[in-house]
Amino acid sequence: VIMTSSRTFQPILERIAEEIERTPGRGRPADYIPALAARDPRAFGMAVAELDGTVYGVGDWREPFSAQSVTKVFTLALDLAREGDELWEHVGREPSGNPFNSLVQLEYENGIPRNPFINAGALVVTDRLQTRTGDAAGELLRFLRAESGNPDLDFDQEVAASETAHGDRNAALAHFMAAYGNIDNPVPVLLDQYFRQCSIAASCADLALATAFLARHGIRADGTRLLSRSQAKQVNAIMLTCGTYDAAGDFAYRVGLPGKSGVGGGIVAVVPGRCALCVWSPGLDERGNSVAGVAALDRFTTLTGLSVF
Ligand code: GLU
Repeated sequence: VIMTSSRTFQPILERIAEEIERTPGRGRPADYIPALAARDPRAFGMAVAELDGTVYGVGDWREPFSAQSVTKVFTLALDLAREGDELWEHVGREPSGNPFNSLVQLEYENGIPRNPFINAGALVVTDRLQTRTGDAAGELLRFLRAESGNPDLDFDQEVAASETAHGDRNAALAHFMAAYGNIDNPVPVLLDQYFRQCSIAASCADLALATAFLARHGIRADGTRLLSRSQAKQVNAIMLTCGTYDAAGDFAYRVGLPGKSGVGGGIVAVVPGRCALCVWSPGLDERGNSVAGVAALDRFTTLTGLSVF
């Protein structure tokens, strides 16, 4: 079925939700902090935001969940908009092939992380955004509120506190990079910003709308430009090659869209020039991607023919 009119998004979402409902096996919610482990693995929501801000949704698409690493897309865009290519002197653009929280590459590559979406790279981006704004997490929250049109969007203090209590590995990454001179701010300041960033609670509707600037080639909801067309292409390319942990190849093969996942079970995806999507289901596969989320995006691109390939 090749979709020609956006009027048909709603039936396609409903069909996907029914198929997902019938599919056994949802994976397991992340369990490194209690707040994530407590989510029902059968929860499922999906939303599509068109370029003009029209949103379609199904299932638990208005239910807030922990955005986690999905926020790495937005901090990357916010920092790129400010500093441009200078960022690439501090973080690379290659898929890592290692788990998201890996330390090993840093030693071989002089404290320069492989890409902005593994934890080390995201810490560098947040650090640089913090230097430029003095309030990286606040800047991110204001951006998400504006793009989603949801003023209630907020940090989840319980999740942020839990991340801090279990933050040894991220602290190690930050200190290790600081030893190479690749972190500007005091590590505790950076970690506080990063954990609040990860803790943001948002729904599929919120995150699909917030991702739509990438489908609009860099233009924000209010019509102003955040990224140049070329920068928007670059962010989409990094999502495609690095956005789904060490399963980006499989995600590109199955879904064929730039996407970014988080351990809360959310995944955002972009159809450039057409729409942005967000899907959420807390059960993860062994690489940290939402099982039902990847399956739903796979069905979406198959049913609609909307992929970058
Ligand atoms: N707060 C998590 C961490 O940094 C985010 C992980 C993720 O969503 O990939 O460990």
